[in-house]
This record gives sequence, structure tokens and C-alpha cells, in this order.
Amino acid sequence: MYKIIIIGAGFAGLSAAKRLSRCGLNLDITFFDKKEDVDFLPLIPDVIGRGLDADLLTCRIQDLLGKKIRFFKEEVLSIDFEAKQVFTAGSSYIYDFLLITSGSQTNFFANPEAQSYAYALNSVKDVKALISALQKNRFENFVICGGGYTGIEAATNLCLFCRKNGIAAKIVIVERSPGILGPLPGWMKSYVGDNLKKLGIEVLLNSVVENIQSSRVLVSGGRVLEKAMLIWVPGVKTADFIQQLPVDKNPQGRIVVDEYLRFRQGCFCAGDAALFTAQGNPIRMAVQFSIAEGAQAADNIIRSIKRLPLNKFQPRDLGFIIPMANNRSCGAVFGLNLKGFLPTLLHFMMCIYRSYGLRNKIGLTGNLAKALICIGSLRRRRGKC
Ligand SMILES: Cc1cc2nc3c(=O)[nH]c(=O)nc-3n(C[C@H](O)[C@H](O)[C@H](O)COP(=O)(O)OP(=O)(O)OC[C@H]3O[C@@H](n4cnc5c(N)ncnc54)[C@H](O)[C@@H]3O)c2cc1C
Repeated sequence: MYKIIIIGAGFAGLSAAKRLSRCGLNLDITFFDKKEDVDFLPLIPDVIGRGLDADLLTCRIQDLLGKKIRFFKEEVLSIDFEAKQVFTAGSSYIYDFLLITSGSQTNFFANPEAQSYAYALNSVKDVKALISALQKNRFENFVICGGGYTGIEAATNLCLFCRKNGIAAKIVIVERSPGILGPLPGWMKSYVGDNLKKLGIEVLLNSVVENIQSSRVLVSGGRVLEKAMLIWVPGVKTADFIQQLPVDKNPQGRIVVDEYLRFRQGCFCAGDAALFTAQGNPIRMAVQFSIAEGAQAADNIIRSIKRLPLNKFQPRDLGFIIPMANNRSCGAVFGLNLKGFLPTLLHFMMCIYRSYGLRNKIGLTGNLAKALICIGSLRRRRGKC
């Protein structure tokens, strides 16, 4: 019986597991994740502003895998490709086929102060820690390090949180490059920029967080923000064990895969951990690609076992949305440029559809409907969010 090991139960790993468990072959599938639960990341920022119940964003991994797949809650620490062995703290496991789907994690860029004092936003545990700090402290400043998608979402959600709770705090986004949102189209950047300005959120470009002392944050140019909560979202990197692997990687540690999502004989990688290049550009770290890559990698494992030629991965980009908590979102979906409430609604519909488990889907539908009504009434009372 062929032994298959999957590392990481996110969108890619779970999509692969589904495909493998339904393929009709008698396989010995072992699944590892360092956590007991899978987190639904796209709604993490909405826990802050819209008050979503964070528990609706998690689901027990074992419940999603069914009985055919063996699940171990263990962190993978290393891999020996020659011996075809995966190592965890307690044991080692042999494979015939390997699929790495360990996603990405917050990159603290080896900054010990950031690691001690800043709040990350990459898991349900992270957002619960952030909410707990908001409940215990009266912050006067919120500093968001990183002006990408997550930074923008976090800033607008903090704005909504402050409005709802009558807190007069300053919200500042600190971005190292000359513009927010990296390579996104100009119209989106200016739409988002205008929205941030309307919300009173300050954006400091060509700037970095230089020093962090507990709740005191020093930004380049000498600006000091006291009683500050620092939210750390300047970028991600892949899992620690990947950094040590003797394979081709980009600076974030994403493993370079070929057109079949393979990086060596019998070894595949999918989702955020994989660097797949389409038309000369690496594809984005996104839910849609992770799910599609996970399924395609699983398919290619099945085809390898059946000694059939592998299929090339052909990504279909359905588009993307930058959700903002005052419902003035924007995005490009099926080639159409969208602004305002419609992309917000589409984002939530995608999230409910993709979320894990019926209980969570029902709970999130209720939570999000309530949040949309609540923001409508806030707008009417205050003129704008
Ligand atoms: C705040 C936030 C908002 C986002 N919003 C959107 C959005 O609106 N739309 C969108 O398309 N994308 C969004 N993304 C990106 C999207 O969530 C990722 O692209 C997607 O989760 C990647 O899926 P994945 O399966 O590759 O990895 P992940 O979902 O990250 O899962 C990886 C799994 O591997 C496990 N793991 C890691 N290391 C190890 C190890 N050593 N041993 C065992 N297990 C390990 C982890 O515990 C985790 O469960 C967002 C991301 C964040 C953080």
C-alpha cells in the first residue's frame, strides 16, 4: 500500500485530502498539523471590528478528514529526502509520496521586540490575544506595520472598533515602500487611499517601525507613538522546517515547483508554501489557488501511482477583493472592477461558502448579517464610519 504524507491542514492540505480519500485507491494517508484545529484566515480581521465570533473560524481537523486518513497533531521538524522520512519531535515516518501544504506564518524579520510586543494576525489564537489586549488596555494609538491587504483590513476594522466603543485613538499604517498594496492597480490604490483618508487613518509611506519598547513605538523620522498597540503584518514566510530543506526557494521560503506542482521525484507542494509561476509571475497567496493546487497535487499523486502522465496545473484567477470594514471595499472579480458594498458582500459570500463545517457556516451567516446591519446604523448615526 502506498504511503502518502501531507504536512499542513489548511486550504491546500484539506483539498488534497478530500481528493485522495475519494480516489478509490487503497492508500495509507498520514496527515500532520501542529494544531488540532484549522483556522479560517480570511475573516480574522473582522473579529476586531465587526465582532465576529472567533470560535466560528475554527474547526477540528480530525472531523474534516474522515476515517480513512490518520491525523497526528505534531509539528514537522525536518525531512530526509534520501531516506523518504518525515521527522517530528517524537517520531519519524516513511513516505512514498509527500505533499507539503504548510502555508505561511508571520515574518518578524528576526526582530525580538516585535516578537515580544507586537500582535500578529495570522491565526485565531493571534486575534484572540489582540481582542483580549483591547479589552484590558486603553490604547491611544494603533500602529499597523505593513500596508498590504491584511494591514488595510486591520486598520479599517480597528477604526470600526473605536467608533463602536467611543474610543478616540489614532490609527497609523507604517509602510516601507512608496505606496500601499504593492503591485495592485493604480485605481485600487487610490480608492483605498481615499477611503483610509475619509476614515481618518494616517498612512506613513517610505517609513519603518524603528524601535519598540512595550507600548511605545518609534517610527522612522523620529515620530513616537505612546500607549500604542502595534499590529505586525509586514509579510509572511514559510514554515521553519522548510527553511532548512535543500530545495529551491524564494526569499520568503516558498518552494519552487514545476508545472506539475512537484519539486522532486515523489514530492509535491501546494498553497502558500509553493512558488508556482504562471506567465512569468508567481501566483498570489490566496484561498482559491491553495484549494486548486491542493486538488491538482493530489491528482498528480494518484496519476503517479497509476503510472499515468502528470497533469499540468493551470490556475484560473477568479479575482480578488480588498475588504474594508466600512463596506467600501474594492476588487476585480471575473474581470470586472468593483467598488463599495457589492465586493464586501461577495467577499462574505465567498467566506461563508469556503468556511469549514455547517455549524460555522450558519453561525457566520448570522454574525455577518448582524454586522452589516450594525454598520448601516452606525453610518446613519455618525454620517460616516
Ligand atoms: C488575515 C488574513 C486574511 C486573508 N484574507 C484572504 C482573503 O480574503 N482571500 C484570500 O484568497 N486569501 C486570504 N488570505 C490568504 C489565505 O488565507 C492563504 O493564502 C491560505 O490560507 C493559504 O492556504 P494554505 O493551505 O497554503 O496554508 P494555511 O491555510 O496557512 O495552512 C497551513 C497549515 O499548515 C500547518 N503547519 C505549518 N507548519 C507546520 C509544521 N511544521 N508541521 C505541521 N503543520 C504545520 C499550520 O498549522 C496550518 O494549519 C488571508 C490571510 C490572512 C493571514
